[in-house]
Amino acid sequence: MVFQVFKPGRHEAEIGVIGGSGLYDPGIIEEPVEVKVYTPYGEPSDYVIVGRVKGRRVAFLPRHGRGHRIPPHRINYRANIWALKMLGVKWVIAVSAVGSLRWDYKPGDFVVPDQFIDMTKKRDYTFFEGGTVAHVSMADPFCEHLRKYLIETGRELGITVHDRGTYICIEGPRFSTRAESRIWKDVFKADIIGMTLVPEVNLACEAQLCYATLAMVTDYDVWAEKPVTAEEVARVMAENVEKAKKLLYAVIPKLPSEPDKEYCSCCESLKYAVI
Ligand SMILES: [Zn+2]
Repeated sequence: MVFQVFKPGRHEAEIGVIGGSGLYDPGIIEEPVEVKVYTPYGEPSDYVIVGRVKGRRVAFLPRHGRGHRIPPHRINYRANIWALKMLGVKWVIAVSAVGSLRWDYKPGDFVVPDQFIDMTKKRDYTFFEGGTVAHVSMADPFCEHLRKYLIETGRELGITVHDRGTYICIEGPRFSTRAESRIWKDVFKADIIGMTLVPEVNLACEAQLCYATLAMVTDYDVWAEKPVTAEEVARVMAENVEKAKKLLYAVIPKLPSEPDKEYCSCCESLKYAVI
């Protein structure tokens, strides 16, 4: 693959894809170039792979780095979102593996969440560290426009896609205790659990990007007291990644070149946020 340092005008993309566990190279990008992007926040998780999918300019970034080097609490979320913004990205599809907190969200199913609960503890949550103060709205944290495309396309492909869900994001890297897992499920009424949504989602909002998560259920969290083998988890994850690649390949050409303000206001998220 060709390697280059980012240059405005030379490397541009409309659609960003952040790959989660298992998805380190979507394998669908034509004429890929590995681009090193420098940001004021340090290094992104990896080089960004920039190229084309069915004629559309796409930028792909593996959240944990290729080879899964970076644990969730050490990911440089600000550098990742900044890098995609510098490349000109308008849409961000964030793929991530999650555990399920309900029986009917089964391993192998996809969820396009519409809400989240933040239980992380010590991350860099904002681009606005002072000087300019901004409080972005998180009432509806995901782009409704992009969610609709992901749900419809997934269903057209015959994938089970749940169109609602609350993602609870824990600090990690450890998993939950049984007591915690029952609290997330029965008290907080969350539907899926993972470690990487926050602060990626709110930084994307501050960057005025249309962001939605494609969550792939790997297994039931420990509340279910349903022990699974490592082989089972690996098999479901591998199948999920194949389905995710198909979905990405189908949805990318459908996205409008510009987000439509009739469907979402992501690109204006700072309009009423800056004090
Ligand atoms: Zn949007």
